[in-house]
Formats: sequence, C-alpha cells, structure tokens
Amino acid sequence: MCRRPSKCAAIEVKASRFLPPDGYFAITFFGKVLVRRKNMELWERDRASRAGKVMLHHEWIHVQQAVSTCNSWLFFYMAYIWYFLCGKPWKYGVKGAYYANPFELEAYINDDDLSYASGTSGTDGWRVFAKMEAEERVRVSKVFHA
Ligand SMILES: [Zn+2]
Repeated sequence: MCRRPSKCAAIEVKASRFLPPDGYFAITFFGKVLVRRKNMELWERDRASRAGKVMLHHEWIHVQQAVSTCNSWLFFYMAYIWYFLCGKPWKYGVKGAYYANPFELEAYINDDDLSYASGTSGTDGWRVFAKMEAEERVRVSKVFHA
C-alpha cells in the first residue's frame, strides 16, 4: 500500500479472495491492483499482451485520479462512492452507475492510450464528466459499453 497516491512508483498486482466483486476483473486498492484468485492464471497469461497493459494502465489512471483528489485515498474513495451513487444504481443498475462514474469514464476512454497517464502528477479528465448530469454520463458511457 502506498500511503499517498503520489508515492506509488509502480503498480503491483496481487491475488485477492474477495475483490473485485464478481463480474469485474481488477480493482485498484490503495495503489495495488487486486485480481480474483480464480483469474490470476488468466492475468499471468495476458499480462504482457496489449490487453494486460491496457488493464494496468486503466488502474494506473485511477491512482493518478487519487493524486488529483488532494493526493488522498480517502478523498478519492469518498468521491468515487459519491459519483457512483449519483449514477443512480437503483435506476441504471450497478453496472450502469459504475460505467457512468466520472472516474471510470476517464479511465475507460483513455486506458487504450498508454501514454495518457504516464506521469505521476495526476489526471483530471474526470472533472469534465463530473460536471455532467447523471443521465448525460449514462448516455456517454453507453457509447463505450453498449
Ligand atoms: Zn476502473
């Protein structure tokens, strides 16, 4: 665990028994990437591939978002949960609210460009999405997750 998001030098992948929830491949957890034990073999096989690099970059974008939220894991996770709830999971479903989260929108839109979050000074593309109404974010997310 990195005490401060900006102190994360590289991302480390660890096997986890309970995280991420079923249906998700990886989760950023205080600067580490957790992959379910049952998916570790798949991760080991794909880690050097383009898909593996994109997955790690996606999680690295989340680390850089935490840098941009006062360089605090607490603020990042509070904001993440807040925006998830703003995505109205009771109306759009858990996946709908997840994909419409400004942090996920920034990460999914940019994770394929491996130079997007190459530094350690934070990213703030999520702020553009945070200004949108929930319905607009849901519409934007459906472009990528139809
Ligand atoms: Zn994500």
